Amino acid sequence: MSTVQPQMTEARRVLLQRTRNIGIIAHIDAGKTTTTERILFYTGKVHRPGEVHEGTATMDWMVQERERGITITAAATTCFWRDHRINIIDTPGHVDFTVEVERSLRVLDGGVVVFDGVQGVEPQSETVWRQADKYRVPRICFINKLDRIGANYVQAIEMIRERLRAQPAAIQWPIGLESEFRGIIDLIEFRAKIYHDDLGQHIEDTEVPPEYVEVAQEWRHKLIEQIVETDEELMLRYLEGEEPTPEELRRALRAATIRGQLYPVLCGSALKNKGVQLLLDAIVDYLPSPLDIPPVKGTHPVTGEELTREADDEAPFAALAFKIQSDPHVGRLTYVRVYSGRLHSSSYVYNSTKGERERISRLLRMHANHREEVEWIGAGDICAVIGLKKTFTGDTLCDPDHPILLEPIQFPEPVISVAVEPKTRADQDKLAIALQRLAEEDPTFQVRTDPESGQTIISGMGELHLEVIVDRMQREFKVAANIGRPQVAYKETITRPVRVEGRFVRQTGGRGQYGHVWLELEPLPRGSGFVFEDRIVGGVVPKEYIPAVE
Ligand code: GDP
Repeated sequence: MSTVQPQMTEARRVLLQRTRNIGIIAHIDAGKTTTTERILFYTGKVHRPGEVHEGTATMDWMVQERERGITITAAATTCFWRDHRINIIDTPGHVDFTVEVERSLRVLDGGVVVFDGVQGVEPQSETVWRQADKYRVPRICFINKLDRIGANYVQAIEMIRERLRAQPAAIQWPIGLESEFRGIIDLIEFRAKIYHDDLGQHIEDTEVPPEYVEVAQEWRHKLIEQIVETDEELMLRYLEGEEPTPEELRRALRAATIRGQLYPVLCGSALKNKGVQLLLDAIVDYLPSPLDIPPVKGTHPVTGEELTREADDEAPFAALAFKIQSDPHVGRLTYVRVYSGRLHSSSYVYNSTKGERERISRLLRMHANHREEVEWIGAGDICAVIGLKKTFTGDTLCDPDHPILLEPIQFPEPVISVAVEPKTRADQDKLAIALQRLAEEDPTFQVRTDPESGQTIISGMGELHLEVIVDRMQREFKVAANIGRPQVAYKETITRPVRVEGRFVRQTGGRGQYGHVWLELEPLPRGSGFVFEDRIVGGVVPKEYIPAVE
């Protein structure tokens, strides 16, 4: 048997080198939505940045997101910067949706972590950081809100070092803070950018102001030492007294970032339009292209043989479905990340998870303010597919002649349940349809019938998760239903002992197998299956802890 080594054309290789699949991840309120909006503004796709408080943010597709000011769906949006295509996979910031964050992390290649310049590293920043560690996602850090009273850039950097145990490499220094924040020093180039207008479009590129020369030199020196430390050749030359050029520093920092050794740190104020263009430059300069990440792993669905797939258009097709959305115009949209090969419209693919053939009808690339229909997409790209009926989040799609089963996305069990009771007979039918559709979209949302009471019980990852589901049920499916009190599930089968530092604050009566437990835990128990923040949420509680409840 002769095998022909697949060869991508040079043009496609260059295009792939110029692709960035990124997610913007943050604690709720750190400014992720505002930063995303500004990115879409500067990349020229929307005319005026949507303000979150006005409820016009383009990425916030769902009505209740606007009302709550949080982002729930993982919409993937394409934009362009410096001849690079940036696919932004939106990730939610609320603790109840960390599973959504996790599935986004599975398909993206790099992340921008947004921190609040006053709060620094917050509990949720820590949670998402650990999730990104798990998937080895290279990251850059954006210390936002430097215009706020109490903003402290150095403290945020120190918190990254201490609380996240990561090596922050500050590549910028702010000129002024709080209401005086007016510019940014690029420590690699040793140049200053001074902002002269409210929309951040009139930027003066100038010498570092004299009063900042000393501090900027000191931080530049630290940065160079950090970078040369990761590159033997630069280190040897540095020891001989030769300073690396800005180009060499960027190249070495890019390599160190992709290896997860260093985390470039930038500063700004998304709301005041400062620092976002430089953030886009850093996305291009430091975050990996699909060619920089290791080949995706999988197995042969029949033989179990281990397989890998390189990011190559000419290799057999393999993709992962990572998000299902119902769209009012075109119906069911399945977002896929293509790892290898090409996906064509009007073609058949094999869903190796389900063992079924599926037909692709159309492919859509989603931009901030329009949708582009495309004939095909290649390796390393992301798009929305119309036509898939049996494909769910986490399923592998592949070439039927070269089947592969990619490592699935792991979804935890839901931890909180409520009973839903339709108000009328007509609502009963609508409820069944609504719940089926919602469960199809969201693998962490489950529906069952309680064998004793016959009630319909819905379960999810937290109170807010279920509130959103109930809200959508009423809004999109017009179901009138009574909702019971949330019940937090506990499990008797915990395979590994969990040490919970904290206390249970309240328990009200239990019914059937469901205990009704509220917890307040601090610090976050690692690897215990709990998802807790500084607020009471609930979780899977090992039975031996139940008597400890007050
Ligand atoms: P998300 O929850 O992380 O998506 O955060 P949002 O983008 O919704 O921002 C949360 C709040 O912080 C909103 O009221 C924003 O207007 C505000 N905000 C975002 N960026 C900045 C900033 O740079 N400076 C200040 N002062 N406020 C900001």
